[in-house]
Amino acid sequence: MEIDMKKSKIKVAVIGAGFSGILAGIKLREQGIDFEIFEKASTLGGTWRDNVYPGVACDVPSHLYVYSFAPNPRWSHRYADGSQIWRYLEKTAKKYRIFEKITFDTEIASAEWQGDRWKLTTSAGKLSFAEIVITAVGRLHHPSMPNLKGLDDFRGEICHSARWDTSFDERGKSIGIIGTGSSGVQIIAALSASASRLTIFQRTPHWVLSVPNPATPFLTKMAMRLPFVAKYYYKKLQRDFAKLTAGVGSGEDALIARAARKHLKRVRDPVLRAKVTPDYTPGCKRMVASPNYHEAIQRENVEIVTDAIERIVPEGIRTVTGRTVNLDAIVLATGFQAGAFLRPMKVVGADGVTLDAIWSDLDINYKTVALPHMPNFFMINGPYSPGGTIPIIAIAEIDVKYIMKCVEHIRRNDIAMAPSMDASRNWLNGVRNRASQTVWVTGGCQSWYLGKDGVPIVNPANLEELSEDLRAIELDDFVIFRKIESDRSREYA
Ligand SMILES: Cc1cc2nc3c(=O)[nH]c(=O)nc-3n(C[C@H](O)[C@H](O)[C@H](O)COP(=O)(O)OP(=O)(O)OC[C@H]3O[C@@H](n4cnc5c(N)ncnc54)[C@H](O)[C@@H]3O)c2cc1C
Repeated sequence: MEIDMKKSKIKVAVIGAGFSGILAGIKLREQGIDFEIFEKASTLGGTWRDNVYPGVACDVPSHLYVYSFAPNPRWSHRYADGSQIWRYLEKTAKKYRIFEKITFDTEIASAEWQGDRWKLTTSAGKLSFAEIVITAVGRLHHPSMPNLKGLDDFRGEICHSARWDTSFDERGKSIGIIGTGSSGVQIIAALSASASRLTIFQRTPHWVLSVPNPATPFLTKMAMRLPFVAKYYYKKLQRDFAKLTAGVGSGEDALIARAARKHLKRVRDPVLRAKVTPDYTPGCKRMVASPNYHEAIQRENVEIVTDAIERIVPEGIRTVTGRTVNLDAIVLATGFQAGAFLRPMKVVGADGVTLDAIWSDLDINYKTVALPHMPNFFMINGPYSPGGTIPIIAIAEIDVKYIMKCVEHIRRNDIAMAPSMDASRNWLNGVRNRASQTVWVTGGCQSWYLGKDGVPIVNPANLEELSEDLRAIELDDFVIFRKIESDRSREYA
């Protein structure tokens, strides 16, 4: 749809051009609302632009890892690699004419509410204005660096999984890898085939599902071109996935948990099997899926070291037992600062209330999408979004559907709205109470799901529950600020 400036009246600023930001753009265009997407990098893609390490792939079936309205009949495998996912997003953004609405190389450093609209300041000091802000800045964006003594002294190469140097050649090298979560497992499987030695420094083993990754049959590719087949298949996968994971949050013996236990038997050597057998309940940490991890760790050139790391030394890694493993390169698969939501952006809402003031420990939130004192400010995949193995694009679609209802309400009534503090606290208390009964707390592990006080910063809701929570705007939960009185004719800087 063409954007009708008379109908639009308002402008929406979307921050971030990953899956979530592109989705917001598509839906804003459909609704005829004027918008601009700000992206700090020179291209779109977020996660799939930044994570280009060997073996990167999605770990939910690719036909489910799409926008529900934009199936992709071309996926080469059940779990597509990262470059295909990036291309899918690029193609979809082109199809829906989103590229022309993205301002690249533009990081939003601050957002300040001006009484009737938001003033956005880029890190280069440029100003922009919008009545509504939608943040789509990602939950897994800022890499987490391990706090290891001597890291700067290492003489070889150091690669973080989320900032991979694509010129790095692992062939013939002795490589150490720290981290055995989703990215670590994918890197281990890939590098084990080409590195001369791969030493895995494992602090905690993960539950790994050994999932086959067959090529997509030709007939499936053909059938998926038919919209009704694609729609049916997406829904079927969603149902199957929900069945597989049902109960895992409450620590029940869910199908997925049973499968993970069974798959461990693929490790033939009992000593090695004991090393990779977690001592916590499946589901406590995000479960990992891999077609070839169990084979990779049984290769001759692969060793798992479970002794803690004492320090990094110029020639390699020294463990607490005094052993030094000589290495040419160290791979850090140490994940992300998952609690750094929206940061380092400075956000100042109504009456000068800052994000830092209301978020000492992410402890205020309204239904994952809005914040008190922040009028016309919305988040996609915000804090307390569902965790576990739920495909994130489906969560983003539910968030955006709700946000679009709010955008329409704001546009039609010329208002600014933010949830009240009481409604936010009530909602969050409910989620935190429920979250503290989950396997994330009771399962006997530490994970990035847990906030500083040990209560998860993720929501135990499944997709249906989230959908129900975000079905309609509950106006009683909102504070309505003064009418938007900006001069519609003024130029946006
Ligand atoms: C290796 C890896 C594999 C994954 N696999 C799966 C999977 O199989 N299934 C699944 O559901 N999820 C998976 N995820 C989670 C994944 O992050 C989400 O599925 C999804 O890609 C998130 O999209 P997003 O748009 O919300 O965030 P992101 O992809 O992180 O995009 C955020 C964008 O915002 C930009 N940005 C941030 N701050 C600013 C700012 N201040 N100004 C301007 N721009 C800004 C960033 O540059 C980035 O482009 C995976 C994550 C990783 C790291």
